[in-house]
Amino acid sequence: MDSPLRALPSVEKLAESLSVEFGKAVALAAAREAIAEAREHLKAGESVEVAGRAEEIARALSQPTLRRAINATGVVLHTNLGRATLAKSAEEAVMQVAGGHATLETDEESGGRGSRQSHVRGLFQKLTGAEDVLVVNNNAAATFLAIAALSSGREVVLSRGQLVEIGGHFRLPEVIEEAGARLKEVGTTNRTRISDFARAAGENTGMLLRCHPSNYKIIGFTEQPTLGELVALGRERNIPVGDDIGSGALIDLSPFGLQGEPTVKESLDGGADIVWFSGDKLLGGPQCGILLGKSELIQTLARHPLMRALRPDKLTLAALEATLRIYLYGDPVKEIPTLRKIARTAEEIRAACERVGLGEVVATLSEVGGGSLPGLTLPSFAVSLEVPSAANLARALRQRPEPIFGRIERGRLLLDLRTVETGEEQKIQVALTETLSKLV
Ligand SMILES: *Cc1c(COP(=O)(O)O)cnc(C)c1O
Repeated sequence: MDSPLRALPSVEKLAESLSVEFGKAVALAAAREAIAEAREHLKAGESVEVAGRAEEIARALSQPTLRRAINATGVVLHTNLGRATLAKSAEEAVMQVAGGHATLETDEESGGRGSRQSHVRGLFQKLTGAEDVLVVNNNAAATFLAIAALSSGREVVLSRGQLVEIGGHFRLPEVIEEAGARLKEVGTTNRTRISDFARAAGENTGMLLRCHPSNYKIIGFTEQPTLGELVALGRERNIPVGDDIGSGALIDLSPFGLQGEPTVKESLDGGADIVWFSGDKLLGGPQCGILLGKSELIQTLARHPLMRALRPDKLTLAALEATLRIYLYGDPVKEIPTLRKIARTAEEIRAACERVGLGEVVATLSEVGGGSLPGLTLPSFAVSLEVPSAANLARALRQRPEPIFGRIERGRLLLDLRTVETGEEQKIQVALTETLSKLV
């Protein structure tokens, strides 16, 4: 009896049909994989469709797994989708230095070695009045470095209401221990007073720490010492006050419904000796951690051996410099996508939903996300799609070359357009038209 395996095409023959679209190397790899798979299926007595499967594999092989995506979740700073998106000028600055050499650590005047931090130091000084500046890889690194450099072998005093876990295994108590300091927790979950700090602070205290409870809220009968109280105590005892403000808003966002988010300047003007925050949350720049404060402290951090492991690369610094220039010389709410998305009114978003013109336009609520402003929502509108399986539609949209992410609510797929750029609306239209017709 003829083996069904004989009916399979040769690898070369199968690859030939794919190589025009996908190139020789991908075509061969896909053909090999498809034929190996088919053999297994045939041995198990199952039927096979080799050509279609080979094309599917080739398509998967030829696209990167890390690719641009459309965020229609309504969560402005979506950690899984890369948090802040860059302003046009920041994107261009990255492209400029990515493909060539760059003035990363040169002194233009002398031609000798300079500091990579110099590209953003002056800009931060102008924007915030900070004495000195240090940029590291992310805010977790900033926390770790500040504690390791300033408090290793000593105690860090922190309120029990601020023992945060940020997500992705960043737990402040553990970070403090790993950085070589001892955590001295004071007060209770809901109420901590300055007298609790005063009692705990002694000879062996390396830092009075305040941490922004970025992703939770304690409400009801609550109390925390003010920054002013901490600063006064720190001055009296000669202990530095560190302030992890998390989101790093450079401008007041209360006109857009974001009440109570501390700005960087408020913390510095309030007297914190060293302040740190993320670059890719409310600041709207690249992933990095930014430390601002007293020159003496910042320079201690800069000289720490860990600094070499935490330093940012030229792409990050190019994006950050360009973003800061917008705050200084441009129009941040117009040019920085994170701020633009937060500032969009519900009516503007409704109009965008109508431009897409598919599905039903429904009112919904967006979030800022990214571990900032827990519980705060922004009124928004979404394109709502009612199909037999919202999960199947969501999956099909996620699997496109430019994936689209929405959210499922009560059996419907919602595409909240607050977080979608105007230029992406047409892509959503095309994707929905193609996907819906295939699903039916
Ligand atoms: C987000 C956050 C961090 C971690 O910042 P990454 O930039 O994600 O490393 C640390 N502390 C606070 C208070 C935060 O909100």
